[in-house]
Amino acid sequence: MNLRPVVQTTRGIQTSDGAGVRLRRLMGGGGALPSIDPFLLLDFFDSPRAQDYIAGFPAHPHRGFETVTYMLAGRMRHQDNKGGEGVIEPGGIQWMTAGRGLVHSEMPEQTEGLMRGFQLWVNLPASRKMTEPGYQEYPSSRMPVESREGGARVKVIAGSTSQGTAGPVTADATDARYFDVELAEGASFTEPLPRDHAAFVVVHEGRMDVAGREVQGVGLAQLGAGDAVRFAAVGGPARALLVSGRPLSEPVAWHGPFVMNTTAELMQAIDDYQAGRF
Ligand code: FE
Repeated sequence: MNLRPVVQTTRGIQTSDGAGVRLRRLMGGGGALPSIDPFLLLDFFDSPRAQDYIAGFPAHPHRGFETVTYMLAGRMRHQDNKGGEGVIEPGGIQWMTAGRGLVHSEMPEQTEGLMRGFQLWVNLPASRKMTEPGYQEYPSSRMPVESREGGARVKVIAGSTSQGTAGPVTADATDARYFDVELAEGASFTEPLPRDHAAFVVVHEGRMDVAGREVQGVGLAQLGAGDAVRFAAVGGPARALLVSGRPLSEPVAWHGPFVMNTTAELMQAIDDYQAGRF
């Protein structure tokens, strides 16, 4: 087994987005690390102070990719211009395929208390950028948790583990996997990953040794080539996301909430949005 090394780590940069939501940008969009094809952007929000999140993300468009919102604490209400609406509860996932486009808002469904979670942007290939918008949305209770000997618990959100536990979300275009792995003190986790996948680990509680590099929460470790990943809790229990997917290897033309292949397609997206064709 050839373990993947860590090629880069980051704790992200502090920024704000939406109507003034304080967040830590870990990847893409001018963040600490460039995008890791097929993953465009990763934000982490984590605050007990309403002033940091209450303004939320009022109506805005998306086209050409998927947004993946995973709530660890707090509740987020979303509403789109096609009649879609729901609340993502703590531990819940919303895997939204924006496809050809929609306009939605993402607003805190609370006025106090902790709001903590991630939003990941997953690119779509040219053949699917203009697909119909759709949602895969599941509460925590719908996601299987695989318990392994030695104190690892793997919540499977998307894709399947090597032991065959399948998450409710499927992301065919990129074969994406999205696991939330909890390790007891002293526990470790080893998992094969397809050689052609790009992959990263995001420690979000405690500290871990990821392929020999210590990473503290919240911290992202980008993995290099190999056929398996290994990480271990250091100094107490720890928890991390493991995300992987098949790179698209296509040109990326990105402007704000639109991610296409060419500048002409971007111009078309802006035109369509401004003309109310989303
Ligand atoms: Fe959005």
